[in-house]
Parts: sequence; C-alpha cells; structure tokens
Amino acid sequence: MKIPFNKPFATGKELEYISQAIANGHLSGNGEFTQRCHASLEAAIGCQKAFLTHSCTAALEMAAILADIQPGDEVIMPSYTFVSTANAFVLRGGVPVFIDIRPDTLNIDESKIESAITAKTKAIVPVHYAGVGCEMDSIMEIAHLHDLLVIEDAAQGVGSAYKGRSLGSIGHLAAVSFHETKNVISGEGGALLVNHPGWIEQAEIIWEKGTNRNQFFRGLVDKYTWVDIGSSYLPSELNAAFLWAQLETAEAITQKRLLIWQQYHQAFADLEAKGKLKRPIIPDECQHNAHMYYILLPDINIRTALIEKLKICGVHAVFHYVPLHSSPAGRKYTRAQGDLSNTENVSSRLLRLPLWVSMTEYVVNQVIDLVYDTLV
Ligand SMILES: *Cc1c(COP(=O)(O)O)cnc(C)c1O
Repeated sequence: MKIPFNKPFATGKELEYISQAIANGHLSGNGEFTQRCHASLEAAIGCQKAFLTHSCTAALEMAAILADIQPGDEVIMPSYTFVSTANAFVLRGGVPVFIDIRPDTLNIDESKIESAITAKTKAIVPVHYAGVGCEMDSIMEIAHLHDLLVIEDAAQGVGSAYKGRSLGSIGHLAAVSFHETKNVISGEGGALLVNHPGWIEQAEIIWEKGTNRNQFFRGLVDKYTWVDIGSSYLPSELNAAFLWAQLETAEAITQKRLLIWQQYHQAFADLEAKGKLKRPIIPDECQHNAHMYYILLPDINIRTALIEKLKICGVHAVFHYVPLHSSPAGRKYTRAQGDLSNTENVSSRLLRLPLWVSMTEYVVNQVIDLVYDTLV
C-alpha cells in the first residue's frame, strides 16, 4: 500500500481558468481573477479587504510592515507554530516572545498573555492550529485593554469560525495560506486580510512595491511613483486563476475533509477510552475545517514506533513543529516567557495522519487498522 500524507486536490476547472487568464492577455498581478478571488474571500470570510499574496509568509511580512514593527518591538505568539509566524516580525527587527499553548486545543494560552506584556509589546499573534479557533474574545479584550494589535495567523483556518465569525475576520489583520498542504490551494499562495479600514490604502501600496500604482490606475493621483516601503507581494493571474477554481469549490472541499476527519475521530474513540492515545478537542464555540487529523501518543517512543510501523506499510504520517524557542534561529532572535511545558510535551507526542480530499473510506480504514494493530 502507498498512502501519502498529502495529495493536492484539483477541482478540474483550474486549467480552464488558466487558459482564460491567458486569453484575457493579463498575466501579471491584480487582474480579473485576482479581483474575483478578493471578492470571494471578502464575502466568505467577512474581512474588510483581501490581498492575494505569494504565500502566507508574504502576508505575515506585509502585516508586520503595516503594524509598523520597529527594532526591539515585542510580539507575543506561541512557540508551537510554523517558522514564518516569527520570522516575519524578526525581519523588521521585532522580537517574538513565546508563551505556552493550551493543552486542549494546542492554541496560544490566552491566560498567559498578560504576564508577557511589557512596555515594548506591540502585537499578539494567535495561531489557529489545525483550523480550530483560538479564544479570540479574551485575546481581543486583552489587546484592547493594553492597546495592542492582533494579527491572526489563520494559515490553516480557511473555512473555520469562532462563535460564528470566520477566522481571519476577528483580528486587526490576518494571514491565510493556499500552500498545497492546506485546504484550499494554489501551489504556493496566501492572502493578507485587513479588517481595519484605515489600513487598506497603505496595504495596497505595500503590496504594489511601495508605489501608488493602484491609485494611479483608478485616476485618484496623476503620477505613478514610489510613496512608501513595500515589495512585490502580488501573485500572477495564473496563480489567481488556479485559486479561483478552488475558492468556487471551497465549501465542498471542507465538507469532504470533515467526513474523513469524523471517520478517524469515531474510530479512535475506543483507543482513547483505553488510554492509548488522545484525540483532538474542538471547543463548542469553534467550527473547524478539518485541516488536520492528529493524535497524541503517550510518549515519543510510542510515536517513533508508530511512525516506523506506518512507514514500513507505506503510510506516511508526520510529526509537526519543532518548538521555535528551541530552534537555532529561535535562540538567536526570540525569547520565551514562562514555562513552555505544554509546547514541549505536545511536540514530542503529536502525530498527523494522512488527510486529503480524494481519500476514500477504504483508504482511511487502512490507516485506522494500522494504528490499531500497532497500539493495541
Ligand atoms: C502553512 C503555515 C504558514 C506558512 O504558509 P505559506 O503559505 O507556506 O507561507 C504559516 N503559519 C502557519 C501556522 C502555517 O500552518
């Protein structure tokens, strides 16, 4: 058997839309498909303004510029996250300050945020792990109280909601990913979501290499010139055309992933009851998008043995983040606040199982059977 960890899903419309983009004669950024994607994201997520980017990494970098991160400014975030969450702020001289995660959702522990706030704190970056929302009401309240910005790393959160509000629509800014390992994809891709109307104009300038190109084309200014710092953050129409096919089908993608997620979840209830593993916990106020199915094993040795057994049988299962505070760059550019024991504990015990849209019930059962064979 050969069961990969991920298999990028194509809806079947991608090539047709790419051909249309070619026929339109506009292949650089911000053409018709880009605008369609923007409108679709704004409608589906309820953010004020969306900007497609090359990646979620690029969107986080734009967010760090918009947040005006200056050398020495501190940004509170979990250590249990992807590199880009921290790196985007380090690029501007900012200092990521890591706090521990909650043992249930593996999201930033909101009760530890206030103890990490100093005179230099500028922003909080909640990461919605596995597409399950962070405790956003508390986080927004703390931010408001201390005059901080909230930048959601919603890379994994497209199609998820917290108390009925889409992830990415709650913080001042948010970043989503369309990387091929995420739910809705364009190979490499992402978007910056701006929820503060006062920042839309500056976001557009940063996106367009620091120029007022878009204002010029709208006839708002009579010269197209360099007005602020920025970079080339907009993807080509070819990527946007691909993404458009995916956004049209986004709900069906989420529904299919949820079925697979549920199949794993029901099957492992028994193993959890026997104390062999722990299953993900989804709080009542969170509607998730089945971005990931993970299990927590009792210890690293059992995890290593299970990965090995699955590998021998052709099933690719993977662990996740090496906590950033213990990475070489993390030791150089960041600091940890308080004890990060949940972070360290989870990172040594978590295992992600294959989950992709075209997985059949039969294939999911093969993975489930192997996990049972190994753990019981
Ligand atoms: C995938 C991911 C990113 C990076 O996304 P790219 O589009 O690959 O740049 C950032 N943060 C988190 C939490 C992610 O899962």
